Amino acid sequence: MRAVVYKKPGHFAVEEVADRPLRAGEVRVKNLIVGVCGTDQHLHVGEFGPRYPLTPGHEIAGEIVEVGPGVAGFAAGDRVAVDNTIYCTHCENCKRGDFNFCQNGIALGVQESGGFAEHTIVAAAKAYPIGDLSLDAAAIIEPTACVVHGLDVLDLTPGQSVLITGAGPTSQILSQLVVQGGASSVTMAAPTQFKLDVAKSHGVNNTVLLDRNDFTASNSELHALAPHGFDVVIEATGAVGILQNILPHVRSGGTLMIYGMASESAQISIHPYEIFRREITIKGSFAQSYGFARAIDFLRSGKVDPTGIITHRFGLEEYGDALAALRAPDCLKAVVEPTA
Ligand SMILES: [Zn+2]
Ligand SMILES: [Zn+2]
Repeated sequence: MRAVVYKKPGHFAVEEVADRPLRAGEVRVKNLIVGVCGTDQHLHVGEFGPRYPLTPGHEIAGEIVEVGPGVAGFAAGDRVAVDNTIYCTHCENCKRGDFNFCQNGIALGVQESGGFAEHTIVAAAKAYPIGDLSLDAAAIIEPTACVVHGLDVLDLTPGQSVLITGAGPTSQILSQLVVQGGASSVTMAAPTQFKLDVAKSHGVNNTVLLDRNDFTASNSELHALAPHGFDVVIEATGAVGILQNILPHVRSGGTLMIYGMASESAQISIHPYEIFRREITIKGSFAQSYGFARAIDFLRSGKVDPTGIITHRFGLEEYGDALAALRAPDCLKAVVEPTA
């Protein structure tokens, strides 16, 4: 089969790779649509602990073409989404059910072969039937599962006002679910107007254009919208400058959730007195565990709607273009269709 293969950071080729035989409990998935995400850019330069040779791609949906020994409940032709996480099940955290913190956790597309290939071998236990769900919807199941986990962590109280910074794919999904999840109002602030417009078309109440280099204008707009701050602020850009600027927009007694991925070495400075005096809660949300079933339900019901989110599509041989597209100003979400 054809696959994107990295043998070292920064260098990949689309090349012929042998299909290995399936082991017990595995299925072979023909990849139909695979999301490209910021993680793939980090992997491209060798960040996030890749294991080589690496075929990236962790947002995978496709069709089962072969069922391994001992697999029940699946047959060739079944359409599935693939939960890319692999837990050891025996570490201290797994034994407590905290799979997201597995001390030996790995992932398809990071340490094991992922979706930017014609086929991916997957544990049947991590394949989720999607029936006749559209491929565009299937492409955002994994990010939706991460959002579902974020909402579990956030534990929104009905009637709260919410500010989301960032307008990328996960911010779009987040905003759709927060709009429907009981928030009294949802405001999105981000540097790209067309992405704000997509969010607005899905029900966000207010949008504010951010200038990453000068928050003067956006700060006064946000202040006008919520003079006492927002009950909940979800920072989904990972940009230190935005995070550093956002605390004054959290209402006293409110919550700041760090959802965006900053670089590992990034730091911000905060005034502990402000956290103390204003009783601000700071939460984090990372990836997901067992969020796929609910994510698929949200996409199936249409409560998460992919319309307007996927802006760029590529074939497997165009993987370099797909990576480059992530930096294009007109790109919201790029996908690779490895077998189209
Ligand atoms: Zn991703
Ligand atoms: Zn573990």
